[in-house]
Amino acid sequence: MHIPTLQISKDKLIALGLRFSDTIHYQLSPEELVQQTLQRGEGSLNDTGALVINTGEFTGRSPKDKFIVKDEITSNVVDWNDFNQPIEEKYFTVILDKITSYLNSLPEIWLRDCVACADSRYRLNLRVITETPVMNLFAYNMFLRPEQGELENYDPEWQILSAPGLKLNATECWIRQHNAVVVSFRHKMILIAGTGYTGEIKKSIFGILNFILPHKKNVLSMHCSANVGKNGETAIFFGLSGTGKTTLSADPGRKLIGDDEHGWTNDSVFNFEGGCYAKCIHLSKEKEPEIYNAIRKGALVENVKFFPGTNEINFEDGSVTENTRVSYPLNYITNSLDPSIGNAPKNIFFLTCDAYGVLPPISKLTPEQAMYHFISGYTAKIAGTETGIKDPKLTFSACFGAPFIPLHPAKYAEMLGQKIRNEKVSVWLVNTGWTGGPYLVGNRIRLEFTRSMVSAVLDARLDSAEFQNHPVFGVAMPVSCPGVPPEMLNPVNTWNDKEAYNEQAKCLAGRFIENFKRYESFVSPEVLASAPGF
Ligand code: ATP
Ligand code: MN
Repeated sequence: MHIPTLQISKDKLIALGLRFSDTIHYQLSPEELVQQTLQRGEGSLNDTGALVINTGEFTGRSPKDKFIVKDEITSNVVDWNDFNQPIEEKYFTVILDKITSYLNSLPEIWLRDCVACADSRYRLNLRVITETPVMNLFAYNMFLRPEQGELENYDPEWQILSAPGLKLNATECWIRQHNAVVVSFRHKMILIAGTGYTGEIKKSIFGILNFILPHKKNVLSMHCSANVGKNGETAIFFGLSGTGKTTLSADPGRKLIGDDEHGWTNDSVFNFEGGCYAKCIHLSKEKEPEIYNAIRKGALVENVKFFPGTNEINFEDGSVTENTRVSYPLNYITNSLDPSIGNAPKNIFFLTCDAYGVLPPISKLTPEQAMYHFISGYTAKIAGTETGIKDPKLTFSACFGAPFIPLHPAKYAEMLGQKIRNEKVSVWLVNTGWTGGPYLVGNRIRLEFTRSMVSAVLDARLDSAEFQNHPVFGVAMPVSCPGVPPEMLNPVNTWNDKEAYNEQAKCLAGRFIENFKRYESFVSPEVLASAPGF
């Protein structure tokens, strides 16, 4: 049994109702956590030494089972909606009691003290208490890792309890089904029960930072990746799931700040996390070498399958889920920045995976168009191939992250708008989705072309380009771009049936307009005037 070598704040544990004993594994090394996972039969190693696990019933987040306690702190501040569902304090207490009793009934539990926010002015001390060693490894990989010395007087401000094996009683706990993520700002606690999907841990911390930073600290929190060029200029990439934040930010020519969650202060951009959580589906060494090479000892790979009879991962196999993932510490990407703090950005990319093949692969936005697109948060989700062919699902997700933002979208939009105007930031809309026709007719834009377009912007090689406006969306499309066939820069050129393109563009524009109605009263007439028109 591991004897904790560092002083754990006993009072905090006892206040939580957790017993204090040597069956608590405190701050184990990744090697120890991997060994324990293997011994418990909860994972195996692949041929490059990474730990491979299955997350069980849940292989993705479950937004319908996420709740925020409605209390004096949140009641008038949170934008209560489908993603921010209220729960009464008394049910939080019931669930807390269930989780602590459950964790106390186990022969051993795992504790990790870690940190969110690379900028020390906003540092948030976290304590993650988990049922399994593997959830603890995830916390090690994804959050910032405090030095030994910092742990001596460590005061965990927020506590996260993770009990995947606990099935709650929905009626008793006033929740939808047996699993839940429950956040209390008063108790500074996050309770996670009934789900083994590791991503719930990282995204629930993101959720609270999206409350605290804009609401209390005047820092804009963002669902984006970020990297920095040789002369220190920062770029950020907003986008919903699957649009390319992680992929495009891992650029050998630039230093990675982070792949998913950042804050923008008066003068800097900083990472909330200490690790990356990358998709593995169709991962190839040729196209994405940085991510591919990060799959090694210490990395945690989820829901992939091996080639039969081997321990070699088959990255094409999406039979468990299309959402196969790997988590690894930031420094597994060779070119990562430490500490992960960069200058305020010069360029912002809005990534969208447009499955209709309508939006140009790259276009420049006016500040008003930028506001319009930020609030709209458009992308299209592609249906999983295993259930046959389905139409792509059009999604509008405000601020490119509706499931994670507790405040009204207008709050984030206002802050972003001010920064874009004051600091003269260029904003680009990048379609990483379809070209040459919609899904099933056209093709996904090749990653190498998207990379060339992004590089051209970042190396200021588009500055001298000529632009033309898109007839429906009004965005400025370059007529040429180094490394990209010029005909693809205006999407209508790539469609055989030009009339069909125009129809599809108008149809998509209509959906934008319909979606934006609910935000009309929150934006200026200039922003409204940037809506697509036809
Ligand atoms: P999440 O928020 O879920 O982490 P993400 O925005 O980080 O999502 P990525 O993990 O970067 O998204 O996923 C983009 C996926 O799309 C990758 O699997 C990548 O290989 C693939 N892809 C294909 N074509 C392109 C392209 N032109 N640009 C970017 N990504 C592409
Ligand atoms: Mn990502």
